[in-house]
Amino acid sequence: MRQGFGVEFMYVSIDHCGQSEQVQVANAHTRRGPLRCKQCDALISGIDVSGAQSWIDSQVARKRELTQTGQLGTRKQSAHQSDEQIDRDGLSAELAACAILCPHSLEVWRRAAHKSRGNHGRDLLRYWTGLNQPVEVKHTRYQDAKRGFLLVRPPRQTPGRMGEEYIDDAIYVLMVGEPFQHQFVGWTNREGLVREGQLNPVPMQPGQRESWGMHWSQLRPLDELAGDMGRGGMLRAIARRVADFGGA
Ligand SMILES: [Zn+2]
Repeated sequence: MRQGFGVEFMYVSIDHCGQSEQVQVANAHTRRGPLRCKQCDALISGIDVSGAQSWIDSQVARKRELTQTGQLGTRKQSAHQSDEQIDRDGLSAELAACAILCPHSLEVWRRAAHKSRGNHGRDLLRYWTGLNQPVEVKHTRYQDAKRGFLLVRPPRQTPGRMGEEYIDDAIYVLMVGEPFQHQFVGWTNREGLVREGQLNPVPMQPGQRESWGMHWSQLRPLDELAGDMGRGGMLRAIARRVADFGGA
């Protein structure tokens, strides 16, 4: 176990080929690229992050303190869930998405998340995933014929209706589940959302902003996204790094 900046014991668990494997966050740097089964090399889309529970809880408590002292605005995205529950779902899902898409960057993601006050539109950096746009992680607890939408809402402190300008030039990923089991459901990008999405696919609750979104069944599969990772060689990799730190 590492000491220094309060690294708790933290791991994610994978089940594949009849075996359960634990990936230690601090040791996850071994290999670039998405998470794969050590036995058969298949992409892993489902993951258990209960090994990170105490860290997630500490982050949710920190965020709550920031909100209570007025340093962070409230989200109020759901009439059925508290801000705290939403934060917990979101952070757990984001950690799971990072472990699935760029496990070698888990530790640096974790440190960035600790400093974060809500990095809108850039949950996972290009440099980490090897993708040409940042990844924005969305989450839902439900996935069936009627439920399970990837939803984009206007950012905080913006007036008016949901519009195309609030859809980032990002890769939007939908995770389903609740702490601490999450499944990668699918992904789309700005173009896909603009073309196939609809206004308010989920009825608006009182006090909620409008949304733009797509049902999970319209999303694209993980292997297609994994195929786009690391494309374009060294020059492209440098361009991704520059874009990440250029504040895009
Ligand atoms: Zn396997």
